[in-house]
Amino acid sequence: MVGKITFTMIKPDAVEANNIGPILAMINKAGFKIVAMKYMRLTKEQAGNFYAVHKERPFYGELTEYMSSGPIVAAILSKENAVSDYRKLIGATDPTKAEDGTIRKQFAKSIAANAVHGSDSDENAEIESNFFFSQLERF
Ligand code: UDP
Ligand code: MG
Repeated sequence: MVGKITFTMIKPDAVEANNIGPILAMINKAGFKIVAMKYMRLTKEQAGNFYAVHKERPFYGELTEYMSSGPIVAAILSKENAVSDYRKLIGATDPTKAEDGTIRKQFAKSIAANAVHGSDSDENAEIESNFFFSQLERF
């Protein structure tokens, strides 16, 4: 399965703005299949564990506060070259730098509230998928 899956979240700003549907439509249109999906709210502690790699970064406190501020959609997506193709589809972290046609260009509010998460490597796609989903929840 290496290279075939990536993990995404639709972040609280995009859920709040009723953009779950349009974002899922872009994901499907780009050729990704949904392997697993859930609608849930993270505690601040869970958000902190998910983003533990960023613990030393200045934005960590704000990020974990924000990611636990409302419900999210978590999903595993599959496609050939899932990680890199999905990073292209979501666009740059800073939406002012994201290209036209990307999810972040269209839906992100700011560098923090940037609509979606996408894994940055096959290894992290596995780790992040396992953080949210058991094997019984994948199809
Ligand atoms: N982030 C932030 N300020 C920054 C950089 C990142 O608030 O200066 C947030 C933003 O929500 C981003 C997340 O932290 O999506 C993780 O940062 P990363 O550098 O991994 O960006 P990504 O992989 O999401 O593009
Ligand atoms: Mg990242």
